[in-house]
Amino acid sequence: MSLTLGKLLLLARQDEPQAGDISGTCVLCSRPTEQGQPIKKVVSNNFMGWASFLSGNCFCPECAYLFSDQTFRKKSWAASVSGGFRIFRNDEAQEILFNPPQAPFFIHIAKRGQKQTWLSCLHRIASNPNRYWFSHESYDIPILFERERAREYAKWADEALEFGLTKTELVSGQFKMKSWQKAYEQGRESMLRQLGSFKGDPLWEVIVDVARK
Ligand SMILES: [Zn+2]
Repeated sequence: MSLTLGKLLLLARQDEPQAGDISGTCVLCSRPTEQGQPIKKVVSNNFMGWASFLSGNCFCPECAYLFSDQTFRKKSWAASVSGGFRIFRNDEAQEILFNPPQAPFFIHIAKRGQKQTWLSCLHRIASNPNRYWFSHESYDIPILFERERAREYAKWADEALEFGLTKTELVSGQFKMKSWQKAYEQGRESMLRQLGSFKGDPLWEVIVDVARK
């Protein structure tokens, strides 16, 4: 049986799942359970991730665990079966992405701490530090980390920020007139064109987001 995100977090934090008494199907992982918890007890009314739920009548203990601690939503974190659980600051995110904990692991990057975007990654536990899925609060979809591409992006992002471009310019691929002017003056217009070609790739957007200024 594959490791789900709830199970990974339980193992990483060496916690015990809370067993309920409902027999049925988990709305999140679709597995049958004898120890389900009521849906309304697990998630609050202002929960925003209903779209991730499938048909089912309860939460299995492992999936319920995902909602048992607001840290999972509010903070950026890395979880690993053998490496444990740790939260990290945004300025540590780049370091963590390139140096993830021992596999199997999972990384989530929070921004405002409001959306549980890791819901799309229930079955996307990472096994390869060079190519793995992670979640970022700005994206409802899993994001694929590929080391070579990420390294190249990080190099370009650093160079661009040093040149004076803003993160908004980098993500949108739309550069201000004065940025083009500066680029022409310094013979760097090919850099701007190259940067513009990354537009639309979520990995590029995340690398820009976590790049240090
Ligand atoms: Zn479940």
